[in-house]
Amino acid sequence: MAKKIGIITGASGGIGEAISRRLGKNHTDLILTYYGNDGKIAQLKRELEREEDVTIHPYKLNVAKEDEINELFNMVKTEFGQVDTLVNNAGITNDMLVTKMSIKDFTRVIDTNLTGTFLMSKLALKLMARSKEGTIINISSVIGLNGNAGQANYAASKAGVIALTKSLAKEYGRRNIRINAVAPGFIASPMTDVLPVEYKMQVKENIAMRRFGSCEEVANTVNFLASDQSTYITGQTIVIDGFMG
Ligand code: NDP
Repeated sequence: MAKKIGIITGASGGIGEAISRRLGKNHTDLILTYYGNDGKIAQLKRELEREEDVTIHPYKLNVAKEDEINELFNMVKTEFGQVDTLVNNAGITNDMLVTKMSIKDFTRVIDTNLTGTFLMSKLALKLMARSKEGTIINISSVIGLNGNAGQANYAASKAGVIALTKSLAKEYGRRNIRINAVAPGFIASPMTDVLPVEYKMQVKENIAMRRFGSCEEVANTVNFLASDQSTYITGQTIVIDGFMG
């Protein structure tokens, strides 16, 4: 296989792990970033390198910090000289009603989910523009399309990710670089495990398929957007939510 380099942020989380496992089947090197969970990423490296023909490069990173992202891309430029796939998946929630939300509560979520996606994309695009190919997949959310009570910060960040995706797609389409987003609904993962049981039951009543999605179902769509099966798709947001009404 020709060298194919991928970067996945938040690879230590539920969806990030599934995306890493899926892209591990068709990339030669994956740089898996994590924020705090060293143990999880070390285990993922062991398993993936045993199961697939891929080399895993764990990288500790705060996506909200520009200097850390600069350092990451200096390393990528020196070690690999290219990046073929970037998945901006790292994300957080910090839910509360807006009247209780401090500016710090608001900006922490924006900085991680939106500014992080902007900073990572900016440096990846510089490398992709040199080789005139590459794909970026941004993980947004249905909350970014519909809004949600108690999630003004998260909704604004994820809506921003969709607008950023469309703008970057318009800037880089002529260079054969595709930028798309996926908007998952409720996905069974550590982020949703913490929600109250009654709330989860209520949510399922409003999903046509009457169940939460799996991390693997998100990963399959990300893999499709990263692959040669989607070479004329850019600037889009694919909703993966079992049809929430
Ligand atoms: P998890 O909480 O399981 O994972 C979050 C990941 O982000 C972890 O790898 C975490 O690292 C990393 N992370 C957190 N803060 C930072 C930071 N400042 N810098 C770098 N990395 C950071 O979440 P999910 O897997 O459920 O979610 C993944 C993405 O999918 C998120 O963007 C989320 O908003 C989105 N999403 C999730 C849905 C769901 O239902 N689960 C629905 C719609 C969208 P570590 O663990 O090492 O600290």
